[in-house]
Amino acid sequence: MFDYLIVGAGFAGSVLAERLASQLGKKILIIDTRSHIGGNAYDCYNEAGILIHRYGPHIFHTNSREVFEYLSQFTQWRSYEHRVLASVDGQLVPIPINLDTINRLYGLSLTSFQLEEFFASVAEPKERISTSEDVVVNKVGRELYEKFFRNYTRKQWDIDPSELDRSVTARVPTRTNRDNRYFTDTYQAMPLHGYTRMFENMLSHPNIKIMLQTDYRDIVGTIPYREMIYTGPIDLFFDYRYGKLPYRSLEFQHETVNTPVHQPVAVVNYPNEHLYTRVTEFKYLTGQEHPKTSIVYEYPRADGDPYYPVPRPENTALYKKYQALADATSGVHFVGRLATYKYYNMDQVVAQALTIYKKLKGTGNRQSPE
Ligand code: FAD
Ligand code: UDP
Repeated sequence: MFDYLIVGAGFAGSVLAERLASQLGKKILIIDTRSHIGGNAYDCYNEAGILIHRYGPHIFHTNSREVFEYLSQFTQWRSYEHRVLASVDGQLVPIPINLDTINRLYGLSLTSFQLEEFFASVAEPKERISTSEDVVVNKVGRELYEKFFRNYTRKQWDIDPSELDRSVTARVPTRTNRDNRYFTDTYQAMPLHGYTRMFENMLSHPNIKIMLQTDYRDIVGTIPYREMIYTGPIDLFFDYRYGKLPYRSLEFQHETVNTPVHQPVAVVNYPNEHLYTRVTEFKYLTGQEHPKTSIVYEYPRADGDPYYPVPRPENTALYKKYQALADATSGVHFVGRLATYKYYNMDQVVAQALTIYKKLKGTGNRQSPE
């Protein structure tokens, strides 16, 4: 008899498996349809011996000391600050938009103070900022919105930014200084030996059994367990009773190039050209030295693995209906990006899982009987 059947071996499932096993002595079965642990953060060495992220670039960043210290039990870190360039008007310029972006784009030499005035002169102030278009146009005006955000967003989400919740483009700030880092979080680092190694360390407890290449629906009636932690798509759990929740997918085209360096930074965004949104060169993220280099192109897709919940009011309303079903389903805990339909970064999923753990610890029983 397992105390918990955990569906999904990504961050949500693995954090809970680790905590429940190591702190409360619970017996855990964690299962995943994929052939590996780590969920979307999975990394591996490719045929050339280069460490790549199979499901696109994963850069760890957080302001939460609790989350960083928790994960530090399972990995050492390599300091890494992420930088991204956008291909706009035939140039590669920094994104988030900052002082250097504007000066290079327009051949100017503005100061920070003058840039503030420039933004104020081009901004279209909105009374209510509710969409992803409003966020950007309100700050930097329509021209920069068109150059950097409109087409990238349409490509990535297949809808116009005016139909997407403001939280999506609000992920990317605007700066008047020269700080060209993608993130400004207190902690920014990559697991020294990769994510998969970190997950292996989390799940190495003797109370945790791992079952891969298994859909939970195929075993749920045959394996005895007390409670379930579910981290897959919430609509799938309820057999799409209210219809499908939209998740956006990607196709990853991985390539190894016979040159030590392919592009000037880890990620180059292509808002206005190509069918892909961005190209990532992994060696910048991992610090690996190798005579060749590996890159990945991301092509947005409607079908395929569910990677992104799509934040917009009608989807939130549909999710709320599923959430009500989830709340009424005793013995099952819904955690993570797919099961709570939230556009969460890794650290937010870890934080959510640690919160659920504390709740389970508070309400649950102590050491399970042998
Ligand atoms: P997942 O990692 O999706 O894990 C859920 C698991 O459940 C999956 O492995 C799935 O196979 C399994 N599962 C689903 N259904 C079933 C079933 N029926 N039976 C058995 N198993 C099932 N975050 C950052 O912080 N920084 C980044 O740079 C970053 N980059 C990203 C880039 C891309 C392209 C994507 C898609 C996401 C990125 N993220 C990033 C977000 C990050 O991937 C997520 O926050 C995190 O991986 C979510 O963890 P999770 O456990 O909730 O979900
Ligand atoms: N975005 C954009 N242009 C860019 C970068 C981002 O329009 O050059 C928008 C786009 O809608 C994207 C969102 O901002 O989906 C969030 O970007 P982020 O880089 O955080 O996306 P993720 O890494 O989660 O795919």
